[in-house]
Amino acid sequence: MYTADAHCDALLKIAQSDSPLVNIDTLKKGGVGLQNFALFAPVESSIYEQQEMIKKEITLFHMCVKQSDNLHSNPFTFIKNDNTYTDAILSLEGAGMLGDNLDMWNDLKNKGVEMASLTWNERNNLAAGSSQPNRYGLTRAGKKVIQWQNNNNIVTDTAHLNEQSFWQVIELADTVVVSHTNTRALLDHPRNITDKQVAALVNKNGFIGLTFYPLFINGTNRADFSDFGRQVEHLCSIGASDIIGLGSDFDGISSTINGLSNPSDYPALINWLLARFDENIVEGLVGENFRKFWNRRRIKR
Ligand SMILES: [Zn+2]
Repeated sequence: MYTADAHCDALLKIAQSDSPLVNIDTLKKGGVGLQNFALFAPVESSIYEQQEMIKKEITLFHMCVKQSDNLHSNPFTFIKNDNTYTDAILSLEGAGMLGDNLDMWNDLKNKGVEMASLTWNERNNLAAGSSQPNRYGLTRAGKKVIQWQNNNNIVTDTAHLNEQSFWQVIELADTVVVSHTNTRALLDHPRNITDKQVAALVNKNGFIGLTFYPLFINGTNRADFSDFGRQVEHLCSIGASDIIGLGSDFDGISSTINGLSNPSDYPALINWLLARFDENIVEGLVGENFRKFWNRRRIKR
């Protein structure tokens, strides 16, 4: 079945000379037709070091694509329902190292970045992340960057934002996703989203990627397919079945769902889901919803 994943941190792992769980072999075995690769630099390092890290990850991304027939990168073009290869897309997770320097944003777009979040969990010069109280939100510079994103058909990712920033993005941004999260209805964690936020994303024709991180799924270090299934069930019950998908966060999480240790395990998850949900729900969830969302906004350009 066509599978798509809206978030992984494999590039950081490769940049740190570690071997990623998301790689050519596991993508192939998992039937992954579409994989988003996030550019991320640890926020503790200096702005200069973060900029250098992002450059390094971009270079590594293009090297990987060049070296493998199985990875395709064609920014701003239509993505086919074909998982005999993987369409690799690029996003930026946290943009404190760019601030509102639009030359740098343009440069990133020219290198294939099509989606970006303003901040990680912290508060930076653009927005306030999920660790921050709601008296903080988007800054003037953050609003300017959203405007640039709208003008350049860049998707605004609200994963990691606090609620205040989220609602401001909903108001200002054209195309909004939460690339890797779970639901607060099932676990009240600052990285998860409320039913009200889900409804706003449905309204906006956005997208929600569900992570495999047990800490966000049930608050422990252990989760099973059934815990993941409960997230899906809840989202379907509040009318979000057409906008949900996978946002694994592989290579960015310290534990994962039992039986789902890397992309090669997707067929097992799919079989489990097919035994419990309608086929069209499963097809949407594991890939088609994200592919369609991505094509909708690419065509809009
Ligand atoms: Zn993240």
